[in-house]
Amino acid sequence: MFSLSKEKSINLFIAVLSPFAIAAVIWALWGITVERLDAGVITLAVLTIFCSVYLRIQLPRVSIHVTISDGLIILAMLLYGGEVALLIAVAETALASINIYRQGVPIKPRSIVVNTYFAAFAVFVAAKAVALVFGSTELIVQRGDFTSIIWLLAVMSLSLFAVNSVFVALYSSLKTERSFWKVWTENCFSAVIMYLTGAVVAGIIVKSLEALEQKNIFLVAAVIGFFGVIYLTFRRFVDDVKKSVEKARQAERERAEQAEQHVGELQHYVAELERSGEALHESHEKFRHAAYHDALTGLPNRNYFIDMLKGLLQQSRENLECNFAVLFLDLNGFKTINDSLGHSMGDRLIKNVAKRLSGMVREEDMVARFSGDKFGVILSDLLSKEEATTFADRLAKRLAEPYTLDGRQVFTSAKIGIAYGNSKYPEAEDILRDADIAMYYSKDNEENYVIFDQKMHIRAVTRLQLETDLRFAIEREEFELYYQPIIGLENSSLVGFEALVRWNHPQRGLVPPNEFIPISENTGLIIPMTIQILHSACSQLVKWQERSGNATPLSVAVNLSGKHFGHPNLVEQITTIIAETGIAPASLKLELTEGAVMENAETAILMLQQIKETGVQISIDDFGTGYSSLSYLHRFPIDLLKVDRSFVSAMEENTENGEIVRTVIALAKALNLKVVAEGIESVHQFHQLRILGCEYGQGYLFSKPLPVADIERLLEDKTRWQNILPAASAPPQGRDMLSPLRLAQ
Ligand code: C2E
Ligand code: MG
Ligand code: MG
Repeated sequence: MFSLSKEKSINLFIAVLSPFAIAAVIWALWGITVERLDAGVITLAVLTIFCSVYLRIQLPRVSIHVTISDGLIILAMLLYGGEVALLIAVAETALASINIYRQGVPIKPRSIVVNTYFAAFAVFVAAKAVALVFGSTELIVQRGDFTSIIWLLAVMSLSLFAVNSVFVALYSSLKTERSFWKVWTENCFSAVIMYLTGAVVAGIIVKSLEALEQKNIFLVAAVIGFFGVIYLTFRRFVDDVKKSVEKARQAERERAEQAEQHVGELQHYVAELERSGEALHESHEKFRHAAYHDALTGLPNRNYFIDMLKGLLQQSRENLECNFAVLFLDLNGFKTINDSLGHSMGDRLIKNVAKRLSGMVREEDMVARFSGDKFGVILSDLLSKEEATTFADRLAKRLAEPYTLDGRQVFTSAKIGIAYGNSKYPEAEDILRDADIAMYYSKDNEENYVIFDQKMHIRAVTRLQLETDLRFAIEREEFELYYQPIIGLENSSLVGFEALVRWNHPQRGLVPPNEFIPISENTGLIIPMTIQILHSACSQLVKWQERSGNATPLSVAVNLSGKHFGHPNLVEQITTIIAETGIAPASLKLELTEGAVMENAETAILMLQQIKETGVQISIDDFGTGYSSLSYLHRFPIDLLKVDRSFVSAMEENTENGEIVRTVIALAKALNLKVVAEGIESVHQFHQLRILGCEYGQGYLFSKPLPVADIERLLEDKTRWQNILPAASAPPQGRDMLSPLRLAQ
């Protein structure tokens, strides 16, 4: 479709308009005679231009300039005809436009020319319209008919408005490429008020001029005053409106600035929020890691291990090919390393063990640290069960190799329990529990590893039951003491007893100490239990001593667990028992195993000294089975050494054991200690020990541990031992015996 560019359209518009406008001007110039240009015309022209240039008021917010110059042009038309009005309008428009331009408003010279054209053409059209409708304007004005003047003014002003507004809208729509109708309604239509106001003003002026001619000075003054007041009031109103508009704009600007500031703050907070969100995420990750990992080694912890086990268990339930095994590891002697070399060394050992373990498993397996020296391994995707045992064997060997920590060689080894996973396990924890049980068996049996079987579980359950029963046993005083006589070997006389505890279990009958002492030690029940035993043994001895009339002073030996030995209230407990039972402190002998005192030798010395201050005697029980350091032994404030039964019973078969017994006795003599030989079962052992100078002995040869009633019968017969052992004073000949002579060597 044919279309013109914007610039071309404007130029075409101007080109079409120009001849008409110029013709209009020529028409005006042609029609003017010099006589018509009197002082009134010049005054009116000057006034019009002045008003247009200087008394122009721009209404706020709309692009309308209110000026009375349009009214004056209408007035010029009324008074002097269209030609004069046209020339005044042309001059006024041109000069007002130039003035606006000078004030810095960007207005193109072309626009000034176009404006002038519009003014010329508009006045021309208005003049012609009036002439067409009313004929001579002069006549109507002179006649002074009010209605006719109003009609005249209406035609004039509306024709001026129509031509001016249409042309301006047309020109503007070409320039802005908007629709003519939109431009006219939005920007030009409102000018109709201006033209109508101008017409009213012109009408009033014409009427006042009539009054002037009639020398009605009051009317003229009233009209001038009226206009003055209107002008000033209007100007003030416009100024007020301008001020409030300016205030509103200022407020808007401030709001915008505030909004900008708020946006800035908001962005800052959003950034802060993002940062803290990231930090939160990071710490969440750290917490997650901490929740599933061991802090020392960085290995997965128990929670993680159990989670993986759960997954494997689920797979095997879904009948997926999934053979896996759980290995539970416990290090041997870790506590000793920790106590002797310090915790930081202990930690380093743990880290080294963790490293070795991690180096031995495949990617799909898992190594975890549970606590202390306990580790777990999951072997997944096993082809055969042997794979797990071969691995356990390799693992045990690798972990037993020396560790170099701080230039020092440290040894440890691991005991391993193995449990194979299967879908019958109700919970993942149960597999781990079974591997743990198997690990305890490997400890007991001195095996590198043990595979779990159901019997172990039954035994573990039994043990748990015993633990529960044991708590009631203390409350119900189900413990019974058996007493084993201790004999003076020199003259085969009764010197005292060892109190050995038995548990009268309501269902199981008499339970031997080896079955429940370890449990009571692990649960801490050993302490109330020992207090009961001590109390009962001491008061029993006091009774027996009273019966025997103090002729032969008897003593009682009570076993003290290593777990109780470290207890801070032990000394207080002993003194209370001595006070309550009235036993002579020297008649009480406390038996402590070698391991119990050697575990922490320095503190043991202090503890033993305190116990000694109460007046009781101290024996080292099962001597020879532990690893006593001679440097410590001589510092321990002890009274007796009890040679372990294993050496005594083997005295006959093997000279090496005989040598041990001989050495122990010699050592005791050197340390000024008395010796008690345990487990004497034969007359031969008895004689040998006598010859070696062992002071005391106990064993089945003399008596098994017996309940109170039996001991009381035994106490009746004072010469009993001499009767059973007639040969005591004459040792048998011809046997390979250790001689006292050899002892002296
Ligand atoms: P122990 O203190 O070394 O006690 C000696 C053990 O050897 C006793 O076993 C005793 O019956 C046994 N025995 C004594 N003579 C012979 C013998 O000629 N042949 C054989 N085969 N055995 C003999 P029992 O009563 O079973 O006690 C075992 C261990 O239980 C005790 O060893 C002791 O360590 C502990 N024990 C016993 N009673 C108590 C107690 O009241 N408190 C604590 N803490 N431990 C106790
Ligand atoms: Mg004992
Ligand atoms: Mg013993």
